[in-house]
Amino acid sequence: MDTLLTDNVLAAVVGAILGAAIAHALDSARERRANARTAQRLVLGDIVALHGEWKALLEELYASSLTADASINVQLKAQLFRISGRSNQAGVVLAHAYSSRQVRASYKKLRSRYHETQALFEQTPRPNGHLRTAAFAWLDEQAERVGQVASTAAGIRQKDPGGIAWVGWGSIANKKWAEKYEALSFDDRAPPWRPEVTVYVVGLNGRDEEGQTFRQVQLDKIRDLVCAEHQRAIHVTFRGRKSHLSTEIAVCCEPMLGRARERLRM
Ligand SMILES: [Zn+2]
Repeated sequence: MDTLLTDNVLAAVVGAILGAAIAHALDSARERRANARTAQRLVLGDIVALHGEWKALLEELYASSLTADASINVQLKAQLFRISGRSNQAGVVLAHAYSSRQVRASYKKLRSRYHETQALFEQTPRPNGHLRTAAFAWLDEQAERVGQVASTAAGIRQKDPGGIAWVGWGSIANKKWAEKYEALSFDDRAPPWRPEVTVYVVGLNGRDEEGQTFRQVQLDKIRDLVCAEHQRAIHVTFRGRKSHLSTEIAVCCEPMLGRARERLRM
């Protein structure tokens, strides 16, 4: 009787201890999840703020090429260095907070777009207003993508923000599988002001020699085609199979489409 009682008491005590331990483990798992969510949301907030600052600085950089005041440029350069450092820092935090490769890849591409745009605006003569607008749209497009993938991963419900309508360039992103491929890639597409040929063709791997040669031959055909009005280059995407290729040409305007078709002999 005594033993049974002791056993029962012991079982109850062990049960209580186990129960508490399990509850604690669940709590801390819940806590960890909550902490992870908080970290994800915080860094996303930082990235949104940084995007606004980047754009403001790039706008200043574009405007500053009108003035010959060297001191303004030195100050601006320093600010650009600082924001670049802060973006890198946000990238490190992001990599810790998000396990999703897609999130990290999309932010890496956004950072490279800031630097591409900065390099473009530092050119002399500076790009015209059309290309300036295109460059900002190109930045916003990627920022939008980062916002979408990161907020989905962080469990933030997002209404369709309407997106950025980028007429002429959108068709590339519409194809589901290419979209997935691109989303996971850490390498970005070329900016609108640089020519590009992308090959999504079965049996033509971009890494093997045949694929490389194919890409190079096509790229040589369009390399020097730049629109005089919009200052944009041409992006061509090949899809399908070797025996049945479909070609998409992303251009800024009708005359450029004609010239691109002529070059690609379509
Ligand atoms: Zn054009």
